[in-house]
Amino acid sequence: MEFPNYDVFDYIVVGSGPAGAVIAKILSDDKKTSVLVLEAGDNNDRDIPIQDSRFAPELEEKYFLQYFWQGEGVPQEGVDDRTFEWTTGRLSGGGSSINGEQYVRPTPSVLQNWERLLGRRWGPNQAIRNFKEMEKFLGTTENPNYHGYSGRLHIRQAPANPTNVSKKVVRAISEAAGVEIIDDYNDPSTPIGAFTQWQLFQNPMEEGRVLPLHFYPRTL
Ligand SMILES: Cc1cc2nc3c(=O)[nH]c(=O)nc-3n(C[C@H](O)[C@H](O)[C@H](O)COP(=O)(O)OP(=O)(O)OC[C@H]3O[C@@H](n4cnc5c(N)ncnc54)[C@H](O)[C@@H]3O)c2cc1C
Repeated sequence: MEFPNYDVFDYIVVGSGPAGAVIAKILSDDKKTSVLVLEAGDNNDRDIPIQDSRFAPELEEKYFLQYFWQGEGVPQEGVDDRTFEWTTGRLSGGGSSINGEQYVRPTPSVLQNWERLLGRRWGPNQAIRNFKEMEKFLGTTENPNYHGYSGRLHIRQAPANPTNVSKKVVRAISEAAGVEIIDDYNDPSTPIGAFTQWQLFQNPMEEGRVLPLHFYPRTL
């Protein structure tokens, strides 16, 4: 594809993390609006540690200098002007290229707060519609209506076969804390509880072949 030699752009987006990349795509979807995306890091999409989800647990440990950067935030009024360190990916895709691929939706009460602050488009009902559109849910749930099945994000529950130890720990937590054992924490009607499987978003390695569900060896 040939690009015209632009001197002037309609928009400049700084950073190609999930926020910047999505904004740039939406702005330029009409193929008329010009958008310049500036990214401090490289495009490492072809590197095996970035492509292969099995590297996720050790990325930060082993590849920090290559794919990450760190900084300190601005003083926060509400906590005596303390500052906090941040860490994120410095590469195409930003944090989403190096993160743990855990898929955790905001709880309904968080979404209700957003709705109060920002309006209906940020509320629980719209959020469920958006999540359903995004996801291809491959897990088990008591409420299939809260999930989508033909979106671009493959969501699976892992490990496929929780160990006996993890089942015992979860049972003990449930009894000690008086909470239920739950299956699908992204179902907004599920109470807070203990679980043996978390939900992860991962790309299938290639068409027709998905990553093995037991790939996270260190998972409970
Ligand atoms: C180690 C780790 C694990 C995580 N695990 C999970 C998880 O399991 N599940 C989950 O949902 N979330 C997880 N997160 C959080 C998630 O990755 C972030 O919330 C998300 O990436 C934020 O997206 P963003 O677009 O706002 O910012 P970022 O992803 O931080 O993207 C910002 C981009 O801007 C670029 N940039 C910044 N400043 C400049 C500049 N001046 N010029 C040019 N480019 C610039 C950066 O290089 C980066 O690519 C994790 C984050 C980290 C760091």
